Amino acid sequence: MAGSIALLKLLSNARVFAPEDLGIRHVLIGGGRILGLSDQKDMLLAAGATEYDLGGARLIPGFIDGHAHVTGGGGESGFKTRVPPVPLGHFTTAGVTSVVGVLGTDDTTRDTRSLLAQTLALRDEGIGAWCHTGGYHVPPVTLTGSVRDDIVFLDPVIGVGELAISDHRSSQPTLSELLRIASDVHVAGMISGKAGILHLHLGDGDRGMDLVRRALSECELPARVFNPTHINRRKALFDEAVALANDGCTVDITAFPVAEDEDAWAADVALGKYLDSGAPADRITISSDGGGCLPVFNDKGEMLHMDIGRPSSLIETLQELLSSGRTLDSVLPAFTSNVADILRLNDRGRIRQDGVADIVALDSDNQITDVMAGGTWHVQKGKQTVFGQFETEN
Ligand SMILES: [Zn+2]
Repeated sequence: MAGSIALLKLLSNARVFAPEDLGIRHVLIGGGRILGLSDQKDMLLAAGATEYDLGGARLIPGFIDGHAHVTGGGGESGFKTRVPPVPLGHFTTAGVTSVVGVLGTDDTTRDTRSLLAQTLALRDEGIGAWCHTGGYHVPPVTLTGSVRDDIVFLDPVIGVGELAISDHRSSQPTLSELLRIASDVHVAGMISGKAGILHLHLGDGDRGMDLVRRALSECELPARVFNPTHINRRKALFDEAVALANDGCTVDITAFPVAEDEDAWAADVALGKYLDSGAPADRITISSDGGGCLPVFNDKGEMLHMDIGRPSSLIETLQELLSSGRTLDSVLPAFTSNVADILRLNDRGRIRQDGVADIVALDSDNQITDVMAGGTWHVQKGKQTVFGQFETEN
């Protein structure tokens, strides 16, 4: 008994953004969950709990990164360009406490088995982790041989993605191919209670969201099944995405670096424009594309150079939003509760009683100081304290 009591943690005097601004609260943590949340500290005093006085610092839900290449992506310019797996600390130090792994262009040397294994490894290391089956191509790569069986029978698999459209690297899927996959995902989501979404990679192609619009107008599937990402990679594509959000889709911004002269919106600018457009504030999310390659192609489809996406682009985007004058509670849902809702991760993405204790503390400069995942501190006073199997302190 004494041992379990000693595992209780009381985070006192924190300004809690749940993501809504709750004001000063005290948060009791135990068994990996939030046991209590109150403005009366006396209500939560538990003998033996370790108290952490936040001194008024802001607590926010851990970010849910709905799109990361946890196995490493890339491989688009020869075998040496295969990106290595993303280590635990790249997520936790960036405030990411839940992640959804995807396969991208290379669903040939990478497969659902290795993605599933890496997803389970991240769970073992202490963060929330799920994955999609499939990848860019059609028919989707699977583990069991069927999209439906993968989602229904493999615990971490919650949808299909990132399936590519409007991209020279895609399978150039037809509408009927897309609808068949979407229907399998939808039904598997119903059977399993999981997200059941078709997470769509949008390329630079002029066709943009055309296939998604046709899908919505020609079938009975709910709009939420179609979940486009990289919507800010072209300005015209972004406008199409806002229209789709008004029609019921949840759309996803990618926090990739954007140059001044590029026909793209940086993630912070895109979220601001989305919220100002009056589109539903709960149908927008931001993901990192961490571990993915960020290739730049010429018009012959040859790669000119490649960067790697990083989970830290999420906190950098949040910091940009805050310095531009946006309020924390207005932008936070795109990183937390909105992602939990579209992914049907009902006990994540919010600071609330009985939820998983995934919590990030921000200092007055909007820097991450402390990160708790599943009730365990992974980052304290700006230093990573829990390391993945092959990570070292340096
Ligand atoms: Zn992609």
